[in-house]
Formats: sequence, structure tokens, C-alpha cells
Amino acid sequence: MKRIAVLGATGSIGVNSLNVAAQLPDDFRITAMTTHKQPELLLQQAQQFRPEVVAVTGTVVSDETRRAFQRLHIHVLQGPEAILEISRNASYDLLLNAVVGAIGFLPTLAAVDRGKHIALANKETMVIGGALVNRAAQQKQVHIVPIDSEHSAIFQCLWGESAQDIEALLLTGSGGPFRTWPKEEFSGITRAQALKHPNWSMGPKITIDSATMMNKALEIIEAHWLFHTPAEKIRVVVHPQSVIHSMVLFADGSIKAQLGLPDMRVPIQVAMTWPERRPAPWPRLEFDRLLTLTFEPPDPEKFRSLALAYEALASAGTAPAVLNAANEAAVQLFLEEKIAFTRITALVEEALQLHANAADPSAAELLAADAWARQFVQQQCQV
Ligand code: NDP
Ligand code: MG
Repeated sequence: MKRIAVLGATGSIGVNSLNVAAQLPDDFRITAMTTHKQPELLLQQAQQFRPEVVAVTGTVVSDETRRAFQRLHIHVLQGPEAILEISRNASYDLLLNAVVGAIGFLPTLAAVDRGKHIALANKETMVIGGALVNRAAQQKQVHIVPIDSEHSAIFQCLWGESAQDIEALLLTGSGGPFRTWPKEEFSGITRAQALKHPNWSMGPKITIDSATMMNKALEIIEAHWLFHTPAEKIRVVVHPQSVIHSMVLFADGSIKAQLGLPDMRVPIQVAMTWPERRPAPWPRLEFDRLLTLTFEPPDPEKFRSLALAYEALASAGTAPAVLNAANEAAVQLFLEEKIAFTRITALVEEALQLHANAADPSAAELLAADAWARQFVQQQCQV
């Protein structure tokens, strides 16, 4: 029985993770869960999963809800630090990090420092502090198993392979809803249009990232650290059907791909059950119907974000943390309908150009760079 702490239990990945746990009740016990602003949903989940402790980081828990948790003998932590407290002190074997944004970085690091294995959806963890996390993971002999579908695909393609045989990691991406739009129309893209992803149903932040292809940019950096692979060996392939979740090209010219329906429960279950597999009831990809798979290169004119990822990796140090934070702040402003769609990537680029990079940063320096980038974006938009 694996004991799991789910950070971000009320989000898109969180809910799917609980779904996986529910279908394998003999394998998993959920010992801790967190939410930011949905204590009532957390309570419903807790009634089913009976964790020992829960955390609510972004709102006040009503007396009634608190009493309901008490009746279930569940300890309730509150406040922004509560998520870190769960990571540091709760009892679990695997930390499943499904919070969105830079806020996920320190809880991952704290769990790794305790020698806990990680199932990682929070890609921002590796984007911000991949070097630090890897160093700690190596010291503590901790496994970081990705949930992000592309990285899960690569992880699975690499089972039984050696790193030295990798010629390239081929990250696939749908290209988002604006792949076929002319560039001239990008500035008029609305919030509602950007929130409609063609293949995946996800939280709002990553959905906007998919529309700017900043999601793929973050995934390039994530892949670099997860698979210890230099940037020049990481390529992006646009594959609009999202059937192939990513591929690995090996030194002998052979390519392995991982396929499946776009259903995040699959990579979540892989990360939760690793190093084993377990049965699952979800629908399968059927080959008795017409299935057309197409591929094309990404358009660097429309999607500048990809080039920014390679630039941030080349600069190293605090640059990826700045890219991530500037993007988070800009996406938030776009979601509040305060800036145009095209401003998101432009602001990230400006932040990268103006920031003073620090080599081999500590966690505190990474967080300072993160704060600087957020403030920079706010100032540019004068809000
Ligand atoms: P959601 O927005 O759906 O959920 C985010 C979760 O984190 C919620 O539980 C939310 O609480 C909580 N949260 C939000 N802000 C904070 C905060 N400041 N402090 C603590 N907790 C917070 O996101 P997703 O599930 O879509 O994404 C989660 C992570 O997984 C992201 O890093 C994303 O990039 C990655 N990912 C997601 C995929 C997907 O299919 N959704 C695919 C691949 C990767 P509340 O419910 O109260 O808002
Ligand atoms: Mg992904």
C-alpha cells in the first residue's frame, strides 16, 4: 500500500489522480490533500478518501466545514505555508504534486529533501529549479516520475534504455487552437477563444500556455532536467491529433513512441504505480477506425515562446525561473482581460532580456528572480 499526499487535489490533475486512486483501492491510500480556494470540494473528496490531514492555502475555512472535517478526525491546516507543512511533515511515501505554478517548487524540494519519491505534474518545479531538485534527488536516491503526458511518454520510451543512446527527445504538441490561424489575427484572440483547447481538458493556466505554446517551451526545460538531456537534443514536433504523446530517437535511427487517447489518468497512473503497471478501465485507442496522424514543424514566427525556452536554457541560472514567473504573471493578466494575447510572450521576452542572470542560484535566489519577473510584468502593464 503506497501512501500518497496529493497537493492540488481539487484541480484538473488532482481530481484525475483521486480517480486513479479510487480504482486501485488496494494499492493506494491518500494521507494528505490540499486545495487553494475550494474547501467544500476538498471536504467531499475527504469524505471519500479519509486523509489524515488537509490544507487550505488560499481562503478561510468556514466553521461548518471545519467541524465537518473534525467529525471525520481530519486535521485542517490553513494559510499559504500549509502546503509546505504537508510536504515537510505529513506521512506519505509519494508526493503527487498537482498544484499549478511556481508555488509548487518548494514543496517538491522539501519532499525530496525528506527522501520522498515524487509524481510530478507541477512542471514549474523543474523549470524553476531543475538543477537544485536533481542534485537533492541524487543525494537522497529519490525518483521523480513525470505526470506531464509528453514526459511520461519519454519516461516510458526510456524504460530499459541507456541515456547515452539518446539522439533526440521528440516532444509532441498539438499546436493549440491557433496553429492554423494567420499571425495577423493573433492580437485579437480573446480569453474565451484561448481557453478552448482542441484535445485536452485542463486548468485555465496551462490551457493558455498551450495556446501560446509556452506550455511546450516549459516542457523543453522540464525535459532537459528530467532526462539530463542537453537542449540541442530536444526537439518539438507539432502533432495536432495528440495520439502520440512523445517519442525518443535513438543513436541507431530507431524511434520509440508512446501512444494513447488524450486522457491524463493514464500518465497519472503510470507515475503512481511505477515501477509496476496496473490494469485500468479507461477507453482504449482503437485502430479499427480511420486514424490519421499528421506531423509538422512548429512555426517560429507565430510561436516565439519555443525560442525563448532555448534562450533561457542557454543562459541557465535564474533565466528559466524568470521565463516561468513572467509567463505566470502575464497569463494572469490575460485571463483578467487586461492585456492582449500577443503581449504574453512579448512580456516574457522583455523580462528575459532585462533580468540580471545569476549562475548556480540557491532556492532563495530563484525565488527572488521569480519575484522580480512578476513585478516587472506588473510594472510594464501599470496595474
Ligand atoms: P488546476 O488549475 O486545475 O488545479 C491547480 C490546483 O492547485 C488546484 O487544486 C488549486 O486549488 C491549487 N492551487 C492553485 N493555486 C494555488 C496556490 N497559490 N497555492 C496552493 N495551491 C494552489 O491546474 P491543473 O490540474 O491543470 O495543473 C496542475 C499542474 O499540472 C500544472 O503545473 C500544470 O502545468 C500541470 N499539468 C497539467 C495537465 C492537465 O491536463 N491539466 C497536463 C500536464 C501538466 P483550487 O482548486 O482551490 O483552485
Ligand atoms: Mg504536457
